[in-house]
Amino acid sequence: MESPIENYLRIIHEEISDLRDGKPYSTIPAMASVNPDNFGICLTTVDGYMYEVGDTREEFTIQSISKPFTYGLALSDLGMDAVDAKVDVEPSGDAFNEISLAPGTGRPSNAMINAGALTATSLIRSRGGNTRFKRIANLYSQFAGRQLGVDEEIYRSELDHGHRNRALAYLLRSFEIIENDPTPVVEDYFRQCSVMVNCMDLSVMAATLANSGRNPMTGVQVMDLLPVERVLSVMTTCGMYDDAGAWLTSVGMPAKSGVGGGTIAVLPGQVGLAVYSPPLDDHGNSVRGVATSQRLSRDMELHFVRAA
Ligand code: GLN
Repeated sequence: MESPIENYLRIIHEEISDLRDGKPYSTIPAMASVNPDNFGICLTTVDGYMYEVGDTREEFTIQSISKPFTYGLALSDLGMDAVDAKVDVEPSGDAFNEISLAPGTGRPSNAMINAGALTATSLIRSRGGNTRFKRIANLYSQFAGRQLGVDEEIYRSELDHGHRNRALAYLLRSFEIIENDPTPVVEDYFRQCSVMVNCMDLSVMAATLANSGRNPMTGVQVMDLLPVERVLSVMTTCGMYDDAGAWLTSVGMPAKSGVGGGTIAVLPGQVGLAVYSPPLDDHGNSVRGVATSQRLSRDMELHFVRAA
């Protein structure tokens, strides 16, 4: 039987389905053919309850929602100081693919824009017989509570068309922010963007951040509190790129979007929210993702000021 929360989610889902603005991401040709009507909403609480409506099992690529998790892995591996030396924690106020590097040093403003995300990926080393990418994929899988795979077609399309990211990686190499060969770094970054998730996975990943790094479904502590705290801080100020200010005032939760159409929002100590809807606004954020998050935040009092 449907719970009152799922009943409510169904009403919101129906209302917001009427919103038809935005367009799916097309810079990566393999992503352009997605069904723009796909729309799912999923909430997972820190005590392991899940509420879902719509296309919550439809798979899509994680894209930039990968960035906070890889950043967290770099922080866990190297500690704050070593990572801070390479990537700052300041909102850039720029688009996700902006060449936002500090003059002189080349240090990217934060790990949520591509320049900082490529840097974070470069900091992960192979360990214990696992390659860099295997370690990254294992971490995402632990966050989601199931084994996640890569969409090979989208990965190849990113390889063929991600010229700007390649340019960024080489620029970062010239500043010695990236200290190793940029080609495998950018390839692993494309792979991490091409990891397939569904809305349920993302809501469990968000709920794991909300639950101080312990996956509420599996009970496994997948990241320590300190890196989780840092990741959520940077998501708060930088997760929605140049829309971060409007997002924080209207939704009031740390969040991250991806051009695959996913959006996650985290209310620490309470809940992880995920929305899937491919059409994007000018910031590269999902139109329905933003609308749904605003609506849920208002109705369920999830804004961090109110929820306190
Ligand atoms: N793969 C995309 C890129 O690097 C991810 C961007 C995003 O989701 N905002 O450009």
